[in-house]
Amino acid sequence: MTTSTVSTLAPAASIPFYESVGRECELFEHAYRQRLPLLLKGPTGCGKTRFVAHMAAKLGLPLHTVSCHDDLTASDLTGRYLLKGGETQWVDGPLTRAVREGGICYLDEVVEARKDVTVVLHPLTDDRRMLPLERTGETLEAPDNFMLVVSYNPGYQHILKTLKPSTRQRFVALSFDFPPFDAECDIVARESGLPRERCQALVSLAARLRAMKGQDLEEGVSTRLLIYCASLIAAGMPVMDAARATLLEPLSDDPDVLCGIEEVVLATFG
Ligand code: ADP
Repeated sequence: MTTSTVSTLAPAASIPFYESVGRECELFEHAYRQRLPLLLKGPTGCGKTRFVAHMAAKLGLPLHTVSCHDDLTASDLTGRYLLKGGETQWVDGPLTRAVREGGICYLDEVVEARKDVTVVLHPLTDDRRMLPLERTGETLEAPDNFMLVVSYNPGYQHILKTLKPSTRQRFVALSFDFPPFDAECDIVARESGLPRERCQALVSLAARLRAMKGQDLEEGVSTRLLIYCASLIAAGMPVMDAARATLLEPLSDDPDVLCGIEEVVLATFG
């Protein structure tokens, strides 16, 4: 596994900004205190990762994040023997580190990972909260301050890449969507530095583009892309250039679809 798919953050000194859109912070905290694993569902770029970073900092927990991909195996999470200075040494993977040291292990896009990953997650997600390490012969018991959080995007999974009911029924689940208009304006303004009044037009445009999802577009424009667009505009880029680079090109490769989106963008800013 490439190390770029894993990051470990010590408890943050400052809490990353997260604008709550419901009672998700409360639910997260309850799940953590009751030692229950959490599943976050929702489209890409709608705030799931920021939410987990915010909650980890709020609860004073280290955060071990793994971006799952289709080559990711159970050993990438648990660890493996590596050759070091002529000797083989066991090196913990991010999941094992989180279980040994405590903290949140966040598996982003968990459905992308290989099937054997669910096998290691199962004993951790019921009341045993165990992580058996076959290779070292250890069985680790998760401490009270360990929490497993996984996310996936139900929107673009094909039938083979979805969570089996036997896995999803082990989690407390929370659905995410793009934030409501006012909240999204606040988020885009705060993250980009563009005045809120100017962000409003972008967020209204996003609503129109999101309405095209399913007909022409596989995914609606994300909050992340809106922030990119607003940041480029705040830095002085002409609005249409910024919109083309952030709201058109990333959404589709189909010239007809791009034309359709451009018309909507021009109707707003042209
Ligand atoms: P996801 O994990 O769902 O793909 P992210 O959490 O990375 O998406 O969100 C993308 C960006 O959108 C974040 O970096 C953050 O700037 C912004 N964002 C989205 N929702 C919120 C929110 N509710 N509060 C603060 N920032 C948000």
